[in-house]
Amino acid sequence: MEASHRDRIFSDPKRSDYLWCLHCERTYERGKWRTLRGFQMCPYLDCDGDAVIDALDWAAIRDEHPEYPERPKWGAVYHWE
Ligand SMILES: [Zn+2]
Repeated sequence: MEASHRDRIFSDPKRSDYLWCLHCERTYERGKWRTLRGFQMCPYLDCDGDAVIDALDWAAIRDEHPEYPERPKWGAVYHWE
């Protein structure tokens, strides 16, 4: 399996198995992405965010929103603010 570019670039400790996309405010499992011209992109087809710099650890979002579930729902939008 191809390594996650994000996990290679960021040394921040992995805190959850999910990432949250800055662009579409949806979540996906770590290790799930779409490859576009060699870039690892957010797996949602209608999103132009990438899975490296536009992705935040879901645990960091939950620090701000403890009411959000530990396992986020695929396709659900979780607002940061
Ligand atoms: Zn996205």
